[in-house]
Amino acid sequence: MPGNVSHCGFVAVVGRPNVGKSTLINAILGSKVSIVTPKPQTTRHRILAVHTIGECQIVFVDTPGLHRRATKTMNRMMNRTAASALADADLILFVSEANRWTVEDQDVLKRLKDSQAPVIALLNKIDKIHPKEALLSALSKMSERHSFDQVIPISAKLNDNLDRLLELIPNYLPESPALFPDEMVTDRSESFHIAEIIREKLTLLLRQEVPYGLTVEIEQFKKEPEGVSINAVIWVERDSQKGIVVGKGGNVLKKVGRQARLELKERLGIPVHLELWVKVKDNWADSEKELLRLGYE
Ligand code: GDP
Ligand code: MG
Repeated sequence: MPGNVSHCGFVAVVGRPNVGKSTLINAILGSKVSIVTPKPQTTRHRILAVHTIGECQIVFVDTPGLHRRATKTMNRMMNRTAASALADADLILFVSEANRWTVEDQDVLKRLKDSQAPVIALLNKIDKIHPKEALLSALSKMSERHSFDQVIPISAKLNDNLDRLLELIPNYLPESPALFPDEMVTDRSESFHIAEIIREKLTLLLRQEVPYGLTVEIEQFKKEPEGVSINAVIWVERDSQKGIVVGKGGNVLKKVGRQARLELKERLGIPVHLELWVKVKDNWADSEKELLRLGYE
């Protein structure tokens, strides 16, 4: 553990799906801890991202977006995960979009009102705001919604104003030695990140409902001097989804494989041999037992 750390605490990043929570954490950490797509429900797990600067260790908690209609077991688990991150937090970053306020944002804010921790509101995606005067009114509207400790406009994508946020956070951390080793960036294994990167490519390529019905499991991850060899299973819920994921003549699966392999090669710094299999498991997302086996907490 880094010996000179005097302050350390948990910072929960919450908000409705798609506001940019994972983008923000990746931007601060300077590495891809959490996958990002333009689709909601991309983040399914609680992911810790550890940022140690000088005497402070900030433990960011990326959460699945809290969503309203949680019909499947998986979605209920995701909501529970996000709620438990709130309960443990020393500081809450409530992320929303600067140019949009929805009933879902309102829902999340309602839950924050019961929590003990101070809340900083982040108005993200300010790069999308034109004219710039519109930002002033967005800021003042936000301040009226809750007694936030601060309201800060940012662009996670363009790394805008994140330094200001990082200057503020240490003030909220309790006195504590470091909880994680210096070099640790996330609590997740390399296999977890590999599965997530494959799921990101699937989510980007597939339309509508299909990404929500699949999950990726790494069956083999073998490091050899000449490269790594990875076997992954893409679990879907129905036969019809299998056909879509494979695509005509296997074209979708090939594309996913190519894109994932390129990113993994870059990330791991060695050649990657990737084999993908698509298998059907009826309603895995509604079975608590399957979900636990597949690593959903
Ligand atoms: P999450 O569901 O809250 O984790 O959101 P993601 O981080 O997955 O981002 C959702 C989408 O918003 C992605 O397409 C991001 O590229 C995009 N996004 C995130 N931050 C910004 C930003 O500051 N500006 C713009 N224009 N897009 C952003
Ligand atoms: Mg996310």
